[in-house]
Amino acid sequence: MSDSSGQPWVVMKFGGTSVAGADQWRAIAALVAERRAEGVRVLVVCSALAGVTDQLLALAAGEVDDDSGLSGLRDLHARLAVELGVDPSPWLDAGLETLATALASVSGPRRTAAIVAQGEWFSSQLGAAFLDGPGARAAWVDAREALSVAPEPDPESARAWLVARCDVAGDPALESRWRALDAVLVTQGYVVRGPDGGSALLGRGGSDTSAALMGACLGAARVEIWTDVPGLFTADPRHEPGARLIPELAWEEALEMAAGGARVIHGRSIRASAEAGVPLWIRDLSNPSGQGTRIVADPAPAAAGARAVACQPHMLVLLLQNLDTRQQVGFLAGVFRVISDRGLSVDQVATSETTTTLAIDTRANHLEPEGVAELVAALQPLCSVEAFPGCVGVNLVGRDARLALHGLAGTRAFFQEHRLLMMSHSAADRCVSLLVEAEGAAALARLLHSTLVLGGAPARD
Ligand code: ADP
Ligand code: ASP
Ligand code: MG
Repeated sequence: MSDSSGQPWVVMKFGGTSVAGADQWRAIAALVAERRAEGVRVLVVCSALAGVTDQLLALAAGEVDDDSGLSGLRDLHARLAVELGVDPSPWLDAGLETLATALASVSGPRRTAAIVAQGEWFSSQLGAAFLDGPGARAAWVDAREALSVAPEPDPESARAWLVARCDVAGDPALESRWRALDAVLVTQGYVVRGPDGGSALLGRGGSDTSAALMGACLGAARVEIWTDVPGLFTADPRHEPGARLIPELAWEEALEMAAGGARVIHGRSIRASAEAGVPLWIRDLSNPSGQGTRIVADPAPAAAGARAVACQPHMLVLLLQNLDTRQQVGFLAGVFRVISDRGLSVDQVATSETTTTLAIDTRANHLEPEGVAELVAALQPLCSVEAFPGCVGVNLVGRDARLALHGLAGTRAFFQEHRLLMMSHSAADRCVSLLVEAEGAAALARLLHSTLVLGGAPARD
């Protein structure tokens, strides 16, 4: 789809650190001007300023006093606006008022979503005001015009409001409405229309998914994910100095890495792009000419075996034991009913004759310690339950991941010292996952990365 002069759309998403400073916004303006000169239509998708989502969640949880929270947010956004030469008064006061109204509403996930959504409202309003200049017109558009939540079985659950799903679909009517605005468009990431017309959220890190879904709506030529690292690496480059950039990879592999904890890209964004056939390109705002990582349908062939190590923190491992499970019909069905009744999704399962181990991502599920205690109590009538909170999934990802299994011999000394709570591998053969307690996870990830991904080359310190 393109506008009347045949210009294709490019969606450019900027993450929290990329929208947090005046220099970054000047770099964004230069990139937008570059794209316009290339003859494309631009939609800019903004995350909240770095740290703001955490501050809003703390406000929603009552961990911060309302007045000091609101004035901190006012100062942060006003300071950046002034540095950029933008008048904050048209949007800052209105946004703070909406926030105060949300804070005063009845507690629950709907209220949390309304509070937290304001982070992206502020950043996108600020961005639209800054990018709107004599050289190019910019206009703010409401992401909730494009994206609405898909129905959930329990419409009041945390999942429905805080980890909402949206269906992927082209939207020619929206495309022509937005095209007719004839401006660089700026919108909120992370935020979608909730069942009541208000705000629901796509889960932490969800702005990437907003960008991918918008790309699908508009039939974009590509979605650019601008962030604070040069692309997707063989391990988190902030923790593993020997990590190497992966210049190109297939959707399935990228999905496995994102699901496994490579948080530079949100897993659901990959599904949305794959379904719509819109390539994703991860790029570094501090080095715009870098090659980045392209996530495409048919990448150049890569070697089989482990290609990357990704770590998934905040995992709850549940060890369920029931000596009577042999040939028992419906035991797991009962366990999963208890879990699904609480709107939780399970990441991994491993079973033997008498024990079952489950891993649940507590952060992605917004599962707090009280929720864990309640879940354990609800499972206890079915079996004995041991809970290990705060674990880490250390995931070896790659096509034909089983080819990495021989290298696990090198972890023998590690596992003499540390428990292996769970190991899983599925027939798709894209990931071997090891669940361990947090304290040993970084060492295990580093060991696997240097022995299996870099093929024995020692990691740089
Ligand atoms: P943004 O705010 O731009 O969305 P995020 O913090 O969500 O950025 O994601 C970028 C971060 O992802 C990087 O700073 C890096 O520490 C982390 N990361 C984790 N795993 C990887 C990986 N395999 N490759 C690149 N970055 C990774
Ligand atoms: N601001 C949200 C978060 O911090 C969404 C995002 O940045 O992608 O999770
Ligand atoms: Mg992110």
